[in-house]
Amino acid sequence: MSDRDDAGVHTLPFDVEYGGLEFTITPTAVETDRGVVLIDVGPDGAVDALRTHLTAIGYDLADVWLVVLTHHDGDHAGGLDELLDHTDAVVAAHREEAPYVTGDREPIKGDGDRYPPVAVDLELTDGVRVPTLAGPMDVVETPGHAPGHISLHFPAGGLLIAGDALVADGAASLSGPNPEFTPDMNRALESVAGLADLEIEHVVCHHGGYVQADSDRLREIVDSSC
Ligand SMILES: [Zn+2]
Repeated sequence: MSDRDDAGVHTLPFDVEYGGLEFTITPTAVETDRGVVLIDVGPDGAVDALRTHLTAIGYDLADVWLVVLTHHDGDHAGGLDELLDHTDAVVAAHREEAPYVTGDREPIKGDGDRYPPVAVDLELTDGVRVPTLAGPMDVVETPGHAPGHISLHFPAGGLLIAGDALVADGAASLSGPNPEFTPDMNRALESVAGLADLEIEHVVCHHGGYVQADSDRLREIVDSSC
């Protein structure tokens, strides 16, 4: 997918088995001066696919210096404990997600089948900015799918890494968060409305990967859901 990636941003799609289902997830590697920022990990067992992808773009697992979780769901954070066997990365999540990651609270979804807890080193909030080779990466709070869900916006390239705030189905189709897995749909749609105010030209979804979709499309999603 590198031809469609912004410089310094690489989608890492791979197939997983999770919750009795098989599907494709898309963590993202963002290059910085000091190595790789990984946006979401995947479920237990994701390390092998992550290693393969990172090797293909010239990195190793040990080059991941920061892991940003968009939220605590197991298909995003379940493989983090194993990843940390291979790298000393700083773990960052929104402060409302951190207790679920650290084991202070049981994950909201997942039938009590929790993944190995991991310490959160850095609690994120709206407006936190990380310098990357793709320009500044801004944390945007997008609650609804999870209470402290965040997305990552790159104003320089008009790129949004949406986590599960949006879902893609093929390269041309973007939709709102999946109602089946989104406990607070109203809040989630408010979050999409907030994203629509940003300069966005393309989006990476954890479920569905890269899609060409702009702020107008986000507004359509909100309008058609009201
Ligand atoms: Zn998910």
